[in-house]
Amino acid sequence: MRPTRAEVNLAHLRHNYRVLEKMFGDGKTKPAIWGVLKADAYGHGSAAVARTLERAGMPGLCVALLEEAIELRDAGIRVPILVMGGYYGPRREGLEEILARDLVPVVYDAGQIERIATLARYESEGRPVRVHLKVDTGMGRLGVTMSELDDVLDAFDGRPEVQLDGLMTHLACADGDDLGPTMEQLARFAEARGRVRARGFSPRFVHAANSAGAMRLSEARFDAVRPGVALFGVSPVPGLAPELKPVIRVRTEVVALRTVEAGEPIGYGYTWRAPRRSMIATVPMGYADGLDRKLSNRGHALVRGRRVPMVGTMSMDLTMLDMTEIPGARIGDEVVFLGQQEGALGRDVITAEEIAETTGTIPWEVLTSISRRVPRFYR
Ligand code: PLP
Repeated sequence: MRPTRAEVNLAHLRHNYRVLEKMFGDGKTKPAIWGVLKADAYGHGSAAVARTLERAGMPGLCVALLEEAIELRDAGIRVPILVMGGYYGPRREGLEEILARDLVPVVYDAGQIERIATLARYESEGRPVRVHLKVDTGMGRLGVTMSELDDVLDAFDGRPEVQLDGLMTHLACADGDDLGPTMEQLARFAEARGRVRARGFSPRFVHAANSAGAMRLSEARFDAVRPGVALFGVSPVPGLAPELKPVIRVRTEVVALRTVEAGEPIGYGYTWRAPRRSMIATVPMGYADGLDRKLSNRGHALVRGRRVPMVGTMSMDLTMLDMTEIPGARIGDEVVFLGQQEGALGRDVITAEEIAETTGTIPWEVLTSISRRVPRFYR
């Protein structure tokens, strides 16, 4: 097997959970922390991540898809799992899975509430199905709009099989420079809450905050918070929590080394030519592994404790590095694309934030792009 792999440090994950617990439980608030493990736990492997967090005492988890929740139940995860995407398929099988596996569906329209009630009448053995109602307070994506809210609340009337157990929203700009739009969303959410209560509902869980919202605004914390990226050691806004530790490290090894003369080209399209006699390493990781092709001729890797530039256009399976400045470079040398080298070499670090900055994306995308072809190892 090739030496390309992602190493997931579960001790760092536990550490990040403790950091967030301390930060959110600041005396005035102590919200439940429900880690967001969608997209295979942001590329870290959802079963191992969920098991670690469940053992560390996390009281609930969130995913986007029903399939992701099923995967966690199949892995033996027992804590409540909120299925945030709200899409349970056009037929009844999806909702049957929700009931059979004791998952918590997010709903945002009357039809969903009616369908859950109809199914629950026959299949939930008299236990009401607990749902969380999502309100759109300004994201413009999923959720009951403020003008539809009363009509959707009507759908709960006369349907004791469905219990409004949670009220949630999602913040669109919590990681932005201007917190004004977030404060407006929170004001709308307060209004929605008031209207829900005035109708006689008392959901046990009110929640709004992603990592940025929870880390920056104690007033966004309510009963629960839904951090994703911060659990994996990425601060959604630079400098919010320097104690967080990156959880994933992506490494491979040099598989070929060649000397090229000044002017010789490297890779597809000859986008790079050696400016002098150079030592070029080839490493077995490319864009099909989730390295962004926009890193070609711009990104870096760590080798022997030093930063080396990527040269030439990245291939699907291979990337070339200019190792001219690395004395003694050899086939088999460790190459780190994300994270740190081990031991004495490990002072420099390539973060998801740095890669995102280079390629013009966000660290969330960097993490979720590491493809299935890269095996995950846990420690
Ligand atoms: N809540 C919802 C509804 C989400 O869609 C997400 C992720 O995008 C999160 C929480 C977690 O966000 P973050 O990774 O920024 O903490």
